[in-house]
Amino acid sequence: MARIGVRPKERRAVTLKSPREIKLMREAGRIVARVHAEVREHIRPGVSTAELDALAEKIIRQHGGIPSFKGYHGFPASICASINEELVHGIPRPDRVLAEGDIISIDVGVIYKGYHGDSAWTYPVGAISPIARQLLEVTREALFVGIAQVRPGRRLLDYSRAVQEHVETRGFHVVRLYTGHGIGREMHEPPEVLNYVHPAHPDSRRRILPGMTLALEPMVTVGTWETETLADGWTVVTRDRSLSAHFEHTIAVLDGEAVILTEL
Ligand code: MG
Ligand code: MG
Repeated sequence: MARIGVRPKERRAVTLKSPREIKLMREAGRIVARVHAEVREHIRPGVSTAELDALAEKIIRQHGGIPSFKGYHGFPASICASINEELVHGIPRPDRVLAEGDIISIDVGVIYKGYHGDSAWTYPVGAISPIARQLLEVTREALFVGIAQVRPGRRLLDYSRAVQEHVETRGFHVVRLYTGHGIGREMHEPPEVLNYVHPAHPDSRRRILPGMTLALEPMVTVGTWETETLADGWTVVTRDRSLSAHFEHTIAVLDGEAVILTEL
């Protein structure tokens, strides 16, 4: 899940994780990655988002995990499934059926032995338009361009700048209201990790330190970056209903660099 940026007046303390804790987060992350690997194989026209959710929950529990989204502030499912103009927090439903040409963002969160993993990916459904394909490519690239900035001594602002520049020089836009976040014993911990440059934000100047664990998650739109929440209280859409994409990994900062925890 994405965090709603609250722009705290004061910086709150960031918890640095021990190697033992990072190992447990790696296990949580591996379960998240297994879910993505399996769910992506089932994405095709005619499949409902409720079916994808049931599959995800089965895999999470089979591996000894707990779906962290289920019951989070009342969220009713194990994954978020957000189609086309839906950016994040879409609720899986039996009557929400994928069609050729859609793009679907699947966000997965797992707790394993008390530690969280969180990763989102946007997938094509069959053949998609050139602009949709480009949106997916640029958003995925932005995540990795951002991760390359995450190392001890840099500031969170370096990540934010790299992501925003990558996206905007390619003609797309970065969502402002939702942000990446610290992660560990809680799904959402300090700091907030913005995907755009906001030097006044108290977390922007924060130095990146070994032991930080972060969920980094660029959210990118074809049209306006402004969003609104639908009447279900969850689903976030672009205000102009243009396409949006969301890629997220949980990473740990080690002595030299960032390592991705949410992969196989
Ligand atoms: Mg997240
Ligand atoms: Mg997420």
